[in-house]
Amino acid sequence: MTERIIPVADLRYLHAVPHIPDILTPATGLLSDTLSRPLRDLRISVTDRCNFRCVYCMPKEVFDTSYQFLPHSSLLSFEEITRIAKIFIAHGVEKIRLTGGEPLLRKNIEKLIEMLAVLTTVDGKPLDLTMTTNASLLGKKAQSLKDAGLKRVTVSLDSLDDATFKRMNDVDFPVTDVLDGIAVASQVGLGPIKVNMVVKGGMNDQEIVPMARHFKGSDVILRFIEYMDVGASNGWKMDEVIPSAEVVRRISESMPLEVVDANYTGETAERWRYADGSGEIGVISSVTQAFCSDCNRARLSTEGKLFTCLFATGGHDLRALLRNGHSDAEITSAVSHLWAKRDDRYSELRTINTEGLSRSDRKVEMSYIGG
Ligand code: SAM
Ligand code: SF4
Ligand code: SF4
Repeated sequence: MTERIIPVADLRYLHAVPHIPDILTPATGLLSDTLSRPLRDLRISVTDRCNFRCVYCMPKEVFDTSYQFLPHSSLLSFEEITRIAKIFIAHGVEKIRLTGGEPLLRKNIEKLIEMLAVLTTVDGKPLDLTMTTNASLLGKKAQSLKDAGLKRVTVSLDSLDDATFKRMNDVDFPVTDVLDGIAVASQVGLGPIKVNMVVKGGMNDQEIVPMARHFKGSDVILRFIEYMDVGASNGWKMDEVIPSAEVVRRISESMPLEVVDANYTGETAERWRYADGSGEIGVISSVTQAFCSDCNRARLSTEGKLFTCLFATGGHDLRALLRNGHSDAEITSAVSHLWAKRDDRYSELRTINTEGLSRSDRKVEMSYIGG
């Protein structure tokens, strides 16, 4: 028998092959974890590669030419992703977000979108199928993404000032190309478009007000994200986090804001609207106001590991189940079993006690697990 060679990149994080329960139970669409949280949102990382080197995500010093990205054979195929998606939808997932790395770098991504777009939720509703992208290829691809069935996009943009943006993406990528991508996406109907701005104190916080002013009154919803201690390579420090309350205060000085009720339970962004009726913004306070109590998200890494928390140190190897010939019924039961045991609430614990950061050297990278 020939020995199977496991690429080193596959061994980067702890993982275990999920247990298949002796008695198989069908999906009911009503999973509940130890904190009574359902499973509604699945984020799928389609590649661990990216053409940007954002300082808070894939710093150049770590993700350099010697960094070992996953080999193609390790990636889930589109058929495998779709099979897992169907199992998760049967468990109650209503929203699927494609992410990465940079999802538009995955070859023929439109094909995957076509395969997912025809799936419906347990209630027979269309899936909320979306993507988070750095928009570097969005101008070129927006029409084909829309044609394939993608509903909308979220674009990451950290500054309108070219020098600041280039310092943050660290590959000299210009702001205008991202803005052009947003415009094309809007024209082809990939809206409502959300723009995510990660605020890193001392780097781009002077851009909070200009970004708000730029998108105020447009059909783009701007959301400010607190810089998180995700991964183990960005050298995160608490004093570089600008709390959302401070973001709201700075914008309100010139453009008064009032709070809006959440759209649904588990919504990550707190919504604020301009008092003059010209639209709204969102703030995502992952550090200063943890929202673990409503967290209904699961993440599937590029090579098929399931993570039940963004800050997990290990995943559950669903790819092993797929490739070892297990049936859908077996994998369905294994996922129920995993979710029933889920007790993750990293951000809440971090808020209670910053000592919780001690596992920071082992956390998975955002580019691998997907944002
Ligand atoms: N490459 C795509 C992009 O940038 O939109 C998708 C993947 S990226 C990992 C997903 C999201 O994670 C982006 O909006 C990015 O800004 C955010 N992100 C990455 N590292 C972060 C950090 N340390 N803190 C907060 N957000 C982060
Ligand atoms: Fe790439 Fe997105 Fe990470 Fe930036 S945030 S390095 S664009 S994966
Ligand atoms: Fe969900 Fe984990 Fe983030 Fe809490 S820390 S909101 S459990 S992903």
